[in-house]
Amino acid sequence: MSVIVLVEHTEGTIKKKSLEAVQYAAEIAKKLGTTATAVATGKIADTELQGLGAYGAQKVLYVADDRLNDLHARAITRVLVAAAKQENSPVIVTLHDVNGRAIAPRVAIQLKAGLISGALSYPDTVKGFVVKKSAFSGKAFAYVNATSEVKVIMLAPNSFQLNKTEGAATVENFSVNFEDKDFGVKVKSVDKITGEVPLSDAELVVSGGRGLKGPENWGIIEDLAHALGAATACSRPVADAGWRPHHEHVGQTGGTIRPNLYIAAGISGAIQHLAGVSGSKTIVVINKDPEAPFFKAANYGVVGDLNEVLPRLTEAVKKF
Ligand code: FAD
Repeated sequence: MSVIVLVEHTEGTIKKKSLEAVQYAAEIAKKLGTTATAVATGKIADTELQGLGAYGAQKVLYVADDRLNDLHARAITRVLVAAAKQENSPVIVTLHDVNGRAIAPRVAIQLKAGLISGALSYPDTVKGFVVKKSAFSGKAFAYVNATSEVKVIMLAPNSFQLNKTEGAATVENFSVNFEDKDFGVKVKSVDKITGEVPLSDAELVVSGGRGLKGPENWGIIEDLAHALGAATACSRPVADAGWRPHHEHVGQTGGTIRPNLYIAAGISGAIQHLAGVSGSKTIVVINKDPEAPFFKAANYGVVGDLNEVLPRLTEAVKKF
């Protein structure tokens, strides 16, 4: 018996959020008195796979099929279901991201498993299998008890700090008989570099809204992001207007991020925007309107003109 966890990679480098998923699966395995097995597909070096041992995976089932460098949802579902059956898995973990959304429900149906999306906590196994998750676009929390024998959990990225330890996982080649139709649905990679680091992995994010007035003013956002080593993000109208690329848009209809620090300048804080950022550990809001709703969600607020505040903040950061 082993808890299965799907890992994602970008050109052979395992994503930080997948390391978090492995660590999460390993903690669940500990609670259940068993081990964690990672499942990896595509072209990944052995050393990279062995490195998953430092995050708690004892074993990696590796499907070395170059077609799976792209996320073919049906093919990877087939891999996960086969791995779960081989390992007699009580729990299968994926990320709650664009890939997980395409794969986890398929796996759950095939294994007749309960599905918990957007998981924020380890399961409480004292009163069943209770997991905390976000609800109503991040406005509330729900506690879900999965009563099915097998459970599929989609972990919300950036919910836990990474704790790297010693250890190497053993890598076993795993083969699955694919069918042509398995390669009919492909999830295109959506991780793009914004600012200094990929937005989905970023611990620091500087974000701008319509208060910037136009794309020509984005330099002050980028300067602060550069000084901090942060990613850049934006509100939806900014992406809709073409001021910034769509992959930077966060919120209900955009990306969900949970960085340690989210700095929002010239963003009003509509509920649809907060849905994507309210999990941030610390929120700093810069807005000239003291009544802007975002201040209610902020840990720190600066009432002022972003054209003055941002350059001063950048100068202050550069002095450190
Ligand atoms: P505005 O609401 O126009 O706010 C601009 C802010 O900048 C104001 O608070 C203003 O006081 C401030 N400002 C102006 N000038 C300055 C200055 N010089 N210095 C400092 N502050 C200044 N939005 C998202 O962001 N993400 C989503 O995913 C999303 N999904 C949606 C889904 C649906 C179904 C719907 C209906 C809406 C969605 N929206 C989403 C839109 C959302 O409702 C808001 O309209 C949007 O977030 C507002 O963007 P904004 O804060 O940049 O602009």
